[in-house]
Amino acid sequence: MPSDCNVDVLIVGGGPAGLSAALVLSRARYKTAIFDSGVYRNAGASHMHMFPTWDHQDPAKYRAAARTELSARYSEVVQFVNIAVTKVTKSSDGIFFAVDSLGKVWSGKKLILASGVKSIFPNILGYENCWNKGMYVLPMLSKPASRARLTLQSNLFWVCLRDFLLVFTASSAMATKSEA
Ligand SMILES: Cc1cc2nc3c(=O)[nH]c(=O)nc-3n(C[C@H](O)[C@H](O)[C@H](O)COP(=O)(O)OP(=O)(O)OC[C@H]3O[C@@H](n4cnc5c(N)ncnc54)[C@H](O)[C@@H]3O)c2cc1C
Repeated sequence: MPSDCNVDVLIVGGGPAGLSAALVLSRARYKTAIFDSGVYRNAGASHMHMFPTWDHQDPAKYRAAARTELSARYSEVVQFVNIAVTKVTKSSDGIFFAVDSLGKVWSGKKLILASGVKSIFPNILGYENCWNKGMYVLPMLSKPASRARLTLQSNLFWVCLRDFLLVFTASSAMATKSEA
C-alpha cells in the first residue's frame, strides 16, 4: 500500500499512555506520529489523581504540558496528528499502515495501540447523566480516598449523596456497616 507519510512508530492515542510512549521513543530518536481523536476516557473528570506532580489537576493541562515538552525537545522526530485512525493493516513484510479519517495513509515499522478503553453504560435511565457526578465506579478517582473505599472497588456502583452513600453491588461480598 503506498503511504503519504512514513515514520518509525505509529502511536494511536494521545492520552497519558501514548504520550509516555512518544517520549521514550523520541529520546531514542525514533520518528513517531501520535494520533489523537480527542476522545479521552476521563473526559468527564475535572481533576486527575495519582500521577506524581499532577495530583488533583486538570487532565487537559497534563496532556497539553506533555505535548509542549515533546515539541520543545523532540520536534524533529515527533508529530501530532489530531485526527482519528479508521483502519490499520499490516503488510506481509511487516509494515503497518494506518488510514486516518481524511483518507491519508501513514506507514510505520511498529504500531502502538494506546487508544485507551471506552465506557459502555448500562441501559439505565439517567445513568450516563450521573456518571462521575455523584455516581462513581471507582470513587478514589474522583473523591478523597478512604480505607473503606479502597477495599470495595470491584463490581460496585456508588451513589454519593449529601450525607449518605448507596452501594449497589453485583458481587456476593457486602460491606460491613463500618466500611460503608
Ligand atoms: C471519570 C474517570 C476519572 C479518572 N481519573 C483518573 C485519575 O485520577 N488517575 C488515573 O490515573 N486514572 C484515572 N482514570 C483512568 C484514566 O482514564 C486513565 O488513567 C488515562 O486516561 C488512561 O490513559 P490512556 O492514554 O490509556 O487513555 P485515554 O486517556 O483515554 O486516551 C486514549 C487516546 O486514544 C485516542 N484514540 C482512541 N481511538 C483512536 C483512534 N481510532 N484514532 C485516533 N486516536 C484514538 C484518544 O483520542 C485519546 O487520545 C479515570 C477514568 C475515569 C473514567
